[in-house]
Amino acid sequence: MVGARYDKEWYRGNHLFPCGGRVIVGPKWPGLFLTLGLLLLGLGVGVATCAWMMLEQGPPSAPRPYRELGIGLVVPFVLMWMLALAFLVRVSLTDPGVVRSSETEPPGMRADGEQQGNRMRRLPVTIDGVLYKHRFCETCRIWRPLRCSHCAVCNACIDRFDHHCPWLAGCVGRRNYRHYVFFCFFTCMSCIIQMAIGIVQLTRPKCDESGDECLWLSWGVVTAILCVVEGGFFSMMTLSLVSYHTFLMWQNMTTKEHKQQGREHPEPERGWPSVKSILFGRLPPSAFEPLQSQKQNNL
Ligand SMILES: [Zn+2]
Ligand SMILES: [Zn+2]
Repeated sequence: MVGARYDKEWYRGNHLFPCGGRVIVGPKWPGLFLTLGLLLLGLGVGVATCAWMMLEQGPPSAPRPYRELGIGLVVPFVLMWMLALAFLVRVSLTDPGVVRSSETEPPGMRADGEQQGNRMRRLPVTIDGVLYKHRFCETCRIWRPLRCSHCAVCNACIDRFDHHCPWLAGCVGRRNYRHYVFFCFFTCMSCIIQMAIGIVQLTRPKCDESGDECLWLSWGVVTAILCVVEGGFFSMMTLSLVSYHTFLMWQNMTTKEHKQQGREHPEPERGWPSVKSILFGRLPPSAFEPLQSQKQNNL
């Protein structure tokens, strides 16, 4: 992610390379601030509500386990939130799997014959007895590897292209898909805990028996309502994403392949081996492999 300078002289797409060429981000990077802002809002209202839960005395007649409850909820909440933030940074600043483009058309491509002269030029290839076709990318001037697609926003071919995510300001592909799944998972966990914090705070007794002392209009109630609304909405959203991507990983399919009615590809794993390899398997090197490591390899 962050390290030696990327070798990007060959690159003609829209990704940006800030920090002296040591980091890669998508062209619509300001979108990241909206995601970050929502995460920070969640952290703020969650921690504030827990603080109110621990500090507010409440009516004398009410049971008082709220100090312990506040501590018990804020610790896992902040932990899940920090993991979500770490994977947000990771997924946004990792090369998603940009495929090296070319200055010239590859030799022999005119000879393959199928649909010459339009964008659907294809190169047949047989793998394990099954016929697949490489598509030619007119922009990158390469035969796309199987499972690769050109992202119009990033203007680059991405290996195992899943989708372009505006929330993360970039593509999700072979090299950052696992970070994306972990980001959705930990965001979902933190949102569920955030919602629980809000519900606990809202359901605690607010008035004493005489009704003279009430806490209904305290800031603790305002932040608790925000916790339930934001946590509830985003926990549902991310839970559906986690469920959908678990299904896709089990089937070894990308979002794009699923939309195309399960387009065939030559990677054979399905079920748990597929999930394991997607989440924990070895990642291929980046096409922007840093100049420093290239020099080391040449020694
Ligand atoms: Zn392309
Ligand atoms: Zn993209």
